[in-house]
Amino acid sequence: MNTLWLATGNQKKVEELQAMLRGMTVTILTVRDLGQSFEVEEDGETFQDNARKKAEALAALTGGWCLADDSGLEVDALNGRPGVRSARFAGEPASDARNNELLLRMMREESNRRARFRCVLWLTDGQSHYQTSGQIQGTLALHPAGSGGFGYDPLFVPDGYSSTFAELGPDIKNTLSHRAKALREMLPILSRLFA
Ligand code: IMP
Repeated sequence: MNTLWLATGNQKKVEELQAMLRGMTVTILTVRDLGQSFEVEEDGETFQDNARKKAEALAALTGGWCLADDSGLEVDALNGRPGVRSARFAGEPASDARNNELLLRMMREESNRRARFRCVLWLTDGQSHYQTSGQIQGTLALHPAGSGGFGYDPLFVPDGYSSTFAELGPDIKNTLSHRAKALREMLPILSRLFA
């Protein structure tokens, strides 16, 4: 059986990755299918460190091919923050609503609203590994808008659009996003492995 494990407990990320992998002859399992808890401390200094850590931890448990995503938002006026700390920007427990509120507060007086989402994907079976990455440039809205997606989607307006990712919805987001770009680069590798 061709099985690909997704090393994320974030159901929204799982849905995005599943939608983008539709059509591949591969069975997708997630950490929910493990039958045990899967907690990896995301204490790396880079997206790459964290993606690698998550993928390797899951490969050690499953022995199969595991794909991990680490991603986040980099804001120019905040010197690249929240970056790898995006999920817990406003502290524990992680909350998208509190993260967005904090970000808007920190950006209240700021005219430079340039930002980008970045994603690193790490694929490993515990022996070989492959890494791809993607980014999407945009600006931060003055107020949250839209109900789709997750995380900072209600604040992020991708270049070339006047609506946020949360307003644009999954079909558009899944062609433009940092995760979509990283996955598009990974697809030929997955096709080769699961041919
Ligand atoms: P991770 O699980 O450490 O990769 O956390 C990524 C965090 O970055 C999420 O919790 C969000 O706050 C943010 N993030 C990553 N990708 C996206 C996205 O596609 N939309 C909105 N926020 C995102």
